Amino acid sequence: MDEVGMRTIGFIGLGVMGAPMADNLVKAGFDVVGHTRRPDGADRLVAAGGRRAGSVAEAARGADAVITMLPDSPDVEAVVLGADGVLTHCDPGTLIIDMSTVRPQTARALAAAALDRGLESLDAPVSGGEQGAIDAVLSIMVGGTAEAFARARPIFEALGTTIVHVGPAGAGQLVKAANQLVVAGTIELVAEAIVLMEASGVDPALGLEVLGGGLAGSTVLARKGTAMRERRFKPGFRVDLHHKDLGIVLDAARTAAVTLPAGELVAQLMDAVRRSGNGHLDHGVLIRGVEHLSGRDKTAGGSAAAGGSATAGGGAAAGREDASGRVSASGWER
Ligand code: NAD
Repeated sequence: MDEVGMRTIGFIGLGVMGAPMADNLVKAGFDVVGHTRRPDGADRLVAAGGRRAGSVAEAARGADAVITMLPDSPDVEAVVLGADGVLTHCDPGTLIIDMSTVRPQTARALAAAALDRGLESLDAPVSGGEQGAIDAVLSIMVGGTAEAFARARPIFEALGTTIVHVGPAGAGQLVKAANQLVVAGTIELVAEAIVLMEASGVDPALGLEVLGGGLAGSTVLARKGTAMRERRFKPGFRVDLHHKDLGIVLDAARTAAVTLPAGELVAQLMDAVRRSGNGHLDHGVLIRGVEHLSGRDKTAGGSAAAGGSATAGGGAAAGREDASGRVSASGWER
């Protein structure tokens, strides 16, 4: 046990992010008890040296801290606040840490309910994607009290490298919303840049290389540019989740009485790719929206460096991805 008494961690939600995060906690010496919806979902954790919990209650009981890493606000509300949830079953003194991306209101409701039970809680959403989770280099934005943040620090240090206490309950989620606004806008502009270069007969591989070294360079460009150029859309971060996050952004903007025109636009574009049947793919698939708006989605593959008229080429297998997530043509025609 470390100096602030964190040893056993209940971890609920072992998906794309939760599974590698739980692995890293085991590696750091924590006793991790994992629960996730899929019956075989905890196999990886058990193989890494953690323990399996058959229910939320089992994961919560006896834990010094309970972490949730679930898709959306209703999932977190059900798992933490529900009749058979974490708050019902955890021991006195348990620290509740929600690392999912949810609405700031949900984070504040959770903090209030925890406080009613005499418990401390934190909202601690993350950025860095699946690779950041695997490499334990996540950015973690934390809302809650300074005391709870100090208790959780050894846990966060096993998961990330940029760890900032940004304010009271809900502040972590608000900062995460800002993060998702920047990421979505940047992906859209990278997509537009690739399509512009392709349509103008310039090799986008060379173009992206030089963009990456100048002011246009970004983590988004470095991590997503090549996959987008090659039309590989295996998630990563699903469009469905980013659509959820942009809803949080626009809701927060309305609450704060600010106007975010680019945010509104990119939310519409994300929604459009989702409604066209691409919600399960990586958010880099925004490039298909650019192709569609440009009348280029009927060109074969869309990956040729040069030219190509809007009507040339194949495109018969609409929106079908292979095992690597490469999509053969857009799903817009469906
Ligand atoms: P995911 O869908 O891969 O994983 C969610 C896991 O929660 C699944 O294993 C699912 O079985 C489990 N689950 C859902 N409801 C449950 C319940 N009631 N009880 C127990 N388990 C339940 O999602 P993810 O990509 O790991 O994302 C998790 C959260 O992290 C989301 O809020 C997402 O927005 C955020 N996030 C994701 C990324 C990313 O790159 N994937 C990056 C940063 C933040």
